[in-house]
Amino acid sequence: MLRAAIIVLAAATASYAGEWSAPAAPQPNIEAMQEAASQARQGSDLYYFTKEEAAVAAKKFPFQPRTGRGFTFDADVPADIQKQMRADLEFIKGIAGEKASALHKKIFGSVNGADYTKFFETRVTAIGMNSCGSSNAVACVIPFRNPSKMWLTQNFIRFSHPQISRMMVVFHEARHTETKSGNWSHAYCPEPFKDENGKDMKSIWTGAVLAGEPACDETPLGSYGSSTIMLKNISLNCANCTDKVKMDAGLYADDQLGRIIDADAKRQMKDDFKQ
Ligand SMILES: [Zn+2]
Repeated sequence: MLRAAIIVLAAATASYAGEWSAPAAPQPNIEAMQEAASQARQGSDLYYFTKEEAAVAAKKFPFQPRTGRGFTFDADVPADIQKQMRADLEFIKGIAGEKASALHKKIFGSVNGADYTKFFETRVTAIGMNSCGSSNAVACVIPFRNPSKMWLTQNFIRFSHPQISRMMVVFHEARHTETKSGNWSHAYCPEPFKDENGKDMKSIWTGAVLAGEPACDETPLGSYGSSTIMLKNISLNCANCTDKVKMDAGLYADDQLGRIIDADAKRQMKDDFKQ
């Protein structure tokens, strides 16, 4: 999902063009749309798609309720990556908490492995390999290829961040499968975009400056907000996590909260975390 480079977008566009059947009615100019999007994506630290692409994807793949019977790995997903993904999901499955904030209840249910597993398995039906637009990427969802599929990169087993932050990435991406909500496409970060000390806001993953990038959200319910809410609740309410897991969860949640640029949305989240 991290940082998108034009080279991968070219590949994605090529395969997308191959899948696209001849339209019967006037359609948006996909190639122009993808070209414009790939331009926009070059500076982004996270894999990014536009509202327009999500709308095209929603037409191509009409919403279907998912039963949550698990996911399949493509045959080309290396065994060690499959093993890491299963181990990570097993770790999430083991989480138990006594309480959850209101926003957490609304999005995920309880701070509980069963609810997180259900969230994941009712959204992600398949996992494949892709470069996700960047040498720093770990995972992505590409709605116009398949809105229910998550792609992993080779970095998934080379990730230098804590396990809980890799799960933050995975649940961020799982939220992007929601076609009914336009796949929760991102908002552009403001320019300039500074922290409370007047320093440029940067990506915790890549160190890239975020000003002007499509790497922010205006709602608590999007991919940044929901994964922040998940980790913050694990940090505050997990009953069987180690102190390290709780500390890491809090650190990454606080960082990602900075991506919420709407003042009301941010206040709503901060109030939610006090519950
Ligand atoms: Zn995203």
